[in-house]
Amino acid sequence: MHSLKRPLLLVASLFASLFMCAQTPDSAADRLMQEALKPSSIESNLRGLTDEIGGRVPGTPAMQRAVEWGVQAFKQAGADSVHTEEFAIPNSWSEGATRMTVSATTYAGVDPRISSLRYTTFNVRAVSIAWAPALAPVKHVPVVDVGEGTEADFKKAGDISGKVALVHTTVLKTWADLFAEYTNAPPVIDLAAKGKAKAVAFMATREHDILYRHTNASDGEIDRLPMVLVAREDGERIARLLASGHPVWADLAIPNTLGGPIKAANVVAELKGSEKPDEFVIVGAHLDSWELGTGALDNGCNAALVIDALRTIKASGLKLRRSIRFVLFSGEEEGLMGSHAYAVAHRPELDKAAGVVIYDSGTGKTTGFAVGGRKDVLETAQRLIAPLQQFGVKELKLDMEWGTDHFDFMLEGVPTFVADQEEANYLVNYHAVSDTYDKVDFSQLKKHVAEAAALSYGLANLPDRIGPRLTHDQIEQTMRDTHSDEMFKAEGIWDEWVSGKRGRQK
Ligand SMILES: [Zn+2]
Repeated sequence: MHSLKRPLLLVASLFASLFMCAQTPDSAADRLMQEALKPSSIESNLRGLTDEIGGRVPGTPAMQRAVEWGVQAFKQAGADSVHTEEFAIPNSWSEGATRMTVSATTYAGVDPRISSLRYTTFNVRAVSIAWAPALAPVKHVPVVDVGEGTEADFKKAGDISGKVALVHTTVLKTWADLFAEYTNAPPVIDLAAKGKAKAVAFMATREHDILYRHTNASDGEIDRLPMVLVAREDGERIARLLASGHPVWADLAIPNTLGGPIKAANVVAELKGSEKPDEFVIVGAHLDSWELGTGALDNGCNAALVIDALRTIKASGLKLRRSIRFVLFSGEEEGLMGSHAYAVAHRPELDKAAGVVIYDSGTGKTTGFAVGGRKDVLETAQRLIAPLQQFGVKELKLDMEWGTDHFDFMLEGVPTFVADQEEANYLVNYHAVSDTYDKVDFSQLKKHVAEAAALSYGLANLPDRIGPRLTHDQIEQTMRDTHSDEMFKAEGIWDEWVSGKRGRQK
């Protein structure tokens, strides 16, 4: 098969290249893809960001160093200009030495008449939920199992006031599970707060004692209750003790440090367009991360990708019709704060935005892009991604996703393209102690550099922008058409949209 087809293909492509100039979309994409796959500093860039700088929470020295890293790396990659844009996050938060020990009255293996032997005590591996309040040390607080935390579960559990509510979860396997982890928690917290629980203990959704950061804050606000995430194995052990009729008590201390507003900064580099320099494409990824690990899959690898996409386009020597802005957002993990701030600050010029491309899912293979409900861009976008089929990029989805930095641009009516990626090793390491450099698949990452470079170049060089900026009413219609309004209602985003707090103004 191959021996038959190959020469024909070769002839066809020779023929094509004779008749097409270097600027045709396909040959430009080929050039960009070749350039992206060459040896580059992407590995050493990312090693510096993860191993040398480490986890990057806004307001910490590591985040400041990361911003400086971004500025330097963009300059080395050949940016026409680099600058930072500051914004505020309402609260700072950091974890102290969270401690949890439980004791249970048990009789296994001991003479029940000897009271000092009736207690089983063990340390629980636990971390605070991020942006949750501190809890001064408390001792001998009853632990109560509230199942998965439904209303019926809480009813069954009875009085939880002054107690630690232990919440069951399911093991994280799919993207849907991950979204469920975010949507399930807030109603549980509502019920726990209503019942005046002392604290909530969520079982980890990862096995093998893996701890990770989870937050329920969507605006950088401090949550209502002290909360911990406990290692799944410890949580299940507590649940089994309770289920077999042994009361369990917890000693718990969550000495989080909370502070006032902090300054954070997005890093913005630009390659200037030659024909329409004031029109622009954005290629973005968030630079901040959680700090239990070193933020390699989420999202250091894609920050490095954005920088290397700039290098690729610059080194290709191809001319840009429009400008491309390469943006490393901050405060993503606290609720998309950097991209929201950027969209609001640049609202007056978003009529000139020609597309926003975002990567935020580790290094699992890209299968396509989500286009934020925009039927009008499908045909052109399909043409732009055609050269990327060799990497497995095929499918355009209409989904209006939330949860990463395209979101506020989408709500402003700008065409957005979020990379759809296979789970690979992303979910097990998500926000976890194990999210480190060694998890990054560089051969895959370099293909993603090629994709981001080719797609953003394609968007920048179309004769007309891929689609107009939608009006408020058109955006709302897209939400209804894609049934995203229901999801946004569940996420509490709908109210922000309706009130004009978020998204394109009427
Ligand atoms: Zn992320």
